[in-house]
Amino acid sequence: MKVVILGAGFGGLEIATCLSETLGDVVSVTLIDKNDSFVFGYAKLDVMFGRTAPEAIHLPYRAFAKPGVAFRQETIAAIDPGTRRVVTDRATYDADVLVVALGADYDVAATPGLAEGGHEFYSVAGAKRLREVLPTFQGGTVVVGVMTPHYKCPPAPSEASMLMHDYLTARGLRDRSRIIMVTPLSSPIPVSKAAGDGILARFAELGIECIAGASTTRVDAATHTLHLSTGDAIHYDLLLAIPVHVAPKVVLESGLAEGGWIPVEKATLKTRFPDVYAVGDVTSVGTPRAGIFSEGAGKVVAAQIIARHRGGDTVPYQGDGHCYIEFGANQVAEIYVNFLGGPKPTSDFKGATPNGVADKRRFGSSRTARWFGM
Ligand SMILES: Cc1cc2nc3c(=O)[nH]c(=O)nc-3n(C[C@H](O)[C@H](O)[C@H](O)COP(=O)(O)OP(=O)(O)OC[C@H]3O[C@@H](n4cnc5c(N)ncnc54)[C@H](O)[C@@H]3O)c2cc1C
Repeated sequence: MKVVILGAGFGGLEIATCLSETLGDVVSVTLIDKNDSFVFGYAKLDVMFGRTAPEAIHLPYRAFAKPGVAFRQETIAAIDPGTRRVVTDRATYDADVLVVALGADYDVAATPGLAEGGHEFYSVAGAKRLREVLPTFQGGTVVVGVMTPHYKCPPAPSEASMLMHDYLTARGLRDRSRIIMVTPLSSPIPVSKAAGDGILARFAELGIECIAGASTTRVDAATHTLHLSTGDAIHYDLLLAIPVHVAPKVVLESGLAEGGWIPVEKATLKTRFPDVYAVGDVTSVGTPRAGIFSEGAGKVVAAQIIARHRGGDTVPYQGDGHCYIEFGANQVAEIYVNFLGGPKPTSDFKGATPNGVADKRRFGSSRTARWFGM
């Protein structure tokens, strides 16, 4: 069976690992990614605030050595889901089973004025740029502005705001600075009142302001102003934006997407094309965009491919997982959410503790060991 996996992020790495573990001797898996290394999303916060060296965050795909799996560093140029044929900048692949795990890209230009007037920390390049910019900041108003309700890692803007408090405090600039988070969501974490309230309580302690339920319509780079859907305008000295997210162009051109993302059957992650699955940020499955959900979806798809070969039952996708939330001051909170297992999402929130730091570290080190043997 020839399985071709497009994208070696949380979803793609987990599917390839599960297939190798169980069917390594009988399956031929090709895993394709344009990059030479994987980076945990949260590592961008560490780079931006100077907590980690940029070179240290890359996990090289050459270390992803699994029986039955060949990694190819190539850029996917075209996907034909009807014939399961994939064309890259170097080769053409025909798959018996095709899995699309290509994540989400950013469209900075979708917010007028943002490219000229703000910074983003959601890409490695953006985080590296901010690492250079932050030390030149001499205090003023920092706005963490969320430009879309459908962004990766719902807690990340709150984390950036609380870590910004620590950063400005350490530099002696907090007294002459304001930190404002602007989000189109109704609360920092709408799915969990406990988590949203916990973050807002911490914001109140730290003097961080939150403007919720407000979309940014445009940025005026000349006057350093954020214009909101509410009619309000906010002056900023430093804008850290979470840009509009879009599916990669190759996905939009493939006929797989509807309304901008790939629709899938929630329980199985099947697309409407036979033997074509899609997992993670590139789908509209109904979970927020986060690595833990992409990884869980990857396990479910791998189980179905394995069952196809060996028989046996599979379990439906639950859309559940644990996420860690940086609260600053070396404390990390934890939230568990199950989005698809019942009629309504359920959640459980554990407040910030110093122990949470070790739990988050274990989350990263367990994946690093499982996928990269490092
Ligand atoms: C600041 C920040 C903090 C975060 N914190 C967390 C966290 O604490 N916990 C958590 O679970 N999630 C977190 N996330 C979110 C997480 O990083 C993503 O949701 C996750 O990586 C999505 O996994 P995926 O497999 O769907 O896609 P990705 O991991 O994005 O993988 C997609 C892959 O496809 C490749 N690709 C795309 N287009 C092409 C092409 N044309 N050709 C070849 N390859 C291509 C990309 O190079 C990429 O490697 C965070 C994200 C950010 C930005």
